Amino acid sequence: MDLVISENLKRIRYNVEEAKAKYRKSDDNVSIMAVTKTVPYERVNYAVHEGITLLGENRVQEYLEKKDFYDKNAEIHFIGHLQSNKVKYIIDNVSLIHSVDNIKLAAEIDRQAAKIGHCMNVLIEVNIGREESKSGVFDDNLDQLIYEISQLKNVRIKGLMTIPPIGKSEEAFYKMQQIFNDLKAKRQDNIDMDILSMGMSADYALAVKYGSNIVRIGSGIFGARK
Ligand SMILES: *Cc1c(COP(=O)(O)O)cnc(C)c1O
Repeated sequence: MDLVISENLKRIRYNVEEAKAKYRKSDDNVSIMAVTKTVPYERVNYAVHEGITLLGENRVQEYLEKKDFYDKNAEIHFIGHLQSNKVKYIIDNVSLIHSVDNIKLAAEIDRQAAKIGHCMNVLIEVNIGREESKSGVFDDNLDQLIYEISQLKNVRIKGLMTIPPIGKSEEAFYKMQQIFNDLKAKRQDNIDMDILSMGMSADYALAVKYGSNIVRIGSGIFGARK
């Protein structure tokens, strides 16, 4: 038992429901992802036991060390910065990669997915605040990147992901929602705009306001990372 996790999940679910009731359509679905970096698998499994069905992995090495011990009832998404040479280690284990921001990485995902006869679902990570320190494609290069990735047979774009600049979540989420809705309205071949992945421990309720359907929460569930 890990009562802190139970309490945290209760509060987060309440806040998500409250934001949904205020700002979203009644049939909108918002998934709460538990972000597992630095968290021992026992505590991750406790969160799954408490109803979490989606886990977010940041680091390939750490994931490979923990994956065999994870409760198999949860789906795994990769959310961290991903180097092309590591794609082969996760291709068969994760159902969505949130952090694709360049064609070289997408092409390697395509190559590895083809090898095992899969089509890998991906989100395009947008660097909405145009910060040097962050991953993600700038918004003015987004259309070009989406077009290039849409030509790959074993990769399927499912939506967008972002990490906003510190202190500017609301304007970042607002902009992302506009971009997401514009792309959705275009109905381009070979891409789906179904998933908008944004919102972390400090700003998930705001993200729900602006259309997020996966909030990625680490410290808010498991406590501060050491
Ligand atoms: C660590 C991380 C999170 C969760 O951050 P918290 O502030 O602990 O909720 C979400 N998304 C990504 C990409 C992360 O690396």
